Amino acid sequence: MTDVFDSDIKYLPGVGPARAKLLESELNVSTFRDLLYIFPFRYVDRSKFYRISEIDGTLQYIQLRGKITDVAVAGQSRGRRLVATLEDGTGSIDLVFFQGLKWIAAKLKVGQEYVVFGKPSVFNERFNMVHPEVDLATDNNPEYETYVRGVYPGTEKLRNGGISNKVFAKLEYTLLKSHGMQIRETLPPGLMADKNLCPLREALVFIHFPLDNAKLAAAQYRLKFEELFYLQLSLLRQKFVRTRASSGIVFPKVGPHFNYVYGKLPFELTDAQKRVIKEIRADFLSGRQMNRLLQGDVGSGKTAVALLTALLAVDNGYQACIMAPTEVLANQHYNGIAKLLEGSGVTCALLTGNTKAGERETIHAGLEDGSIDIMFGTHALLEDNVVFKNLGYAVIDEQHRFGVEQRARLWVKGKELPHVLVMTATPIPRTLAMTLYGDLDVSVLDKLPPGRIPVQTLHFPESRREAVYAFMKKQIKAGRQVFVVYPLIEESEKMDYKNLEDGYEMIKENFPSPEYVTAVVHGKQKPADKDFGMQAFESGRADILVATSVIEVGVDVPNATVMVIESAERFGLSQLHQLRGRVGRGAQQSYCILMTGYKLSRESKRRIEMICSTNDGFEIAEADMRMRGPGDIAGTQQSGLAVELHISDLAKDSPILEDARRTATLVLESDPALEKPASSLYARELRRIRKDITDYSQIS
Ligand code: ADP
Ligand code: MG
Repeated sequence: MTDVFDSDIKYLPGVGPARAKLLESELNVSTFRDLLYIFPFRYVDRSKFYRISEIDGTLQYIQLRGKITDVAVAGQSRGRRLVATLEDGTGSIDLVFFQGLKWIAAKLKVGQEYVVFGKPSVFNERFNMVHPEVDLATDNNPEYETYVRGVYPGTEKLRNGGISNKVFAKLEYTLLKSHGMQIRETLPPGLMADKNLCPLREALVFIHFPLDNAKLAAAQYRLKFEELFYLQLSLLRQKFVRTRASSGIVFPKVGPHFNYVYGKLPFELTDAQKRVIKEIRADFLSGRQMNRLLQGDVGSGKTAVALLTALLAVDNGYQACIMAPTEVLANQHYNGIAKLLEGSGVTCALLTGNTKAGERETIHAGLEDGSIDIMFGTHALLEDNVVFKNLGYAVIDEQHRFGVEQRARLWVKGKELPHVLVMTATPIPRTLAMTLYGDLDVSVLDKLPPGRIPVQTLHFPESRREAVYAFMKKQIKAGRQVFVVYPLIEESEKMDYKNLEDGYEMIKENFPSPEYVTAVVHGKQKPADKDFGMQAFESGRADILVATSVIEVGVDVPNATVMVIESAERFGLSQLHQLRGRVGRGAQQSYCILMTGYKLSRESKRRIEMICSTNDGFEIAEADMRMRGPGDIAGTQQSGLAVELHISDLAKDSPILEDARRTATLVLESDPALEKPASSLYARELRRIRKDITDYSQIS
């Protein structure tokens, strides 16, 4: 059945080929449906008129009513503009037009009263509005105008192409008026009654032209639920299909290797660790391939979970691999774990970009004949010539540093699909995880091992550097070590390295040798120099480590109690939190010192305040998402959201999302293939939206 909403947007009266092109390039709108699903992102109360004297430069879109007292053309060539002065008895404002001067000049009559709609700004110390919408005050409102006016996502190009906000609303109206009755319901009546959802047709009318607040709220709720429900249904469906189609290797035994290392651990596992190991073990027994995301704050003890579960694979005659994003981290895993494995009979090896050719061959052979049980390494493990005899389990640490592509390559490593555990120390807000990794199961290490003293976080402006140095000296005298971290941002890499070098010089001046020893580590160094710097700090020979944010993911030095972050305003929330996690690992009170310039933007100030006020990674991740939007959260750029959300906000709509996910799960549990008559609507909608959704089922 053809659907009128699939029609090319150029056929909508009022659009035509030129505007169609514009809508496509500016808003990705190419069909009737696309247009219908561009919703106002704000509503302006039409009954409210501002007085010109009330304008203070902070206002968004407002309405004014007043008389035009002057119309004049000013400027030359490209700067040519029409300026009309509007007065309302409390003051005056300039209405400025750069396009369509003739037409507007003819329309605006001095002495007439007008209603003006636009966003005020300041220019040459005067308030003005650029390209406002102007109507005669006596004009009857078009029939579709309701008590509020929707503000659509407009761009300069759209306005120049004649698609102002008013025109936009008119197009929506045309579409709804001629085809509104053909809008087909996408949710079954039972579900709608259950969730108290209004019909789709009504929702689409009222989202564009609300009659009152209650109708608008009902429309928003309905559309959000539908959007999140189909997103979850689609993601969970992929998971159902995959887990049903691919049988997973079963690891029935808890054997000697697991028990040996478990007994040798220098600590008691936390309840959180025990719970997660149980969850993974249940997957190993399920007969289905595991795809699990393990989230745990820095220091929550993810390594122990990785190791113990890898030993389950070994106990059952399979190989395991533990992959890290950096050389430093792979080394650390290997060295830390190799010690625990001594005497266990488990063989392990390390493969990175630096592994020498001879050693490499031995490792390749060992992997192929199965004599290596646990393989550690970096991306090097993904190279084609690395072949496992029987890889049963792959752990990927710090998931977000691996691209989608690389994770997918793991699939082909073994004859059978290995179980996959992706570990991340960047807590992803639950709602985002459910959306990004909707087809993964999620485990959380939500408790730090006992005895950790929370890190104290302090903010110092540049002018108090002396005090910070004095504090560092005191800590060093007491036998502790200090990190000093500089931002490294790709666009200004050169400048950043200069800052780092200057900073290093300054530290050496203020902390002269031989009294103090300072090491430096950054990405421009040769691996040998990097190792040297790292070693100096890890062994305790160096008191201070000056570094770029590379240390973000590496380094476990319990004796380091101070983390000084230079230009802290340039780091994102999650990154600051990540860096802070490098201290507070030992028995001593630790400190994180945020150095910033004196003047901070409001945004930076909020970030700094946030990080000083809490140590909870999940709280910070949620805040980060609220401040920057889901698209900018560390780790999501590569993967991207699987779909574009039109109306839902993952930061604000988590209750709806949870409900949508529960509902989708229930639907699939009763009809996994969506083949029963009751599911026909679902199946139809999924087919329709599938073209918009990237298939992530093969990612990790
Ligand atoms: P992350 O989750 O950041 O990878 P790690 O696995 O590196 O954390 O663990 C951080 C530190 O905590 C390590 O020194 C580790 O030995 C220690 N640790 C892990 N689990 C426990 C525990 N249950 N009790 C005490 N210390 C633990
Ligand atoms: Mg770790």
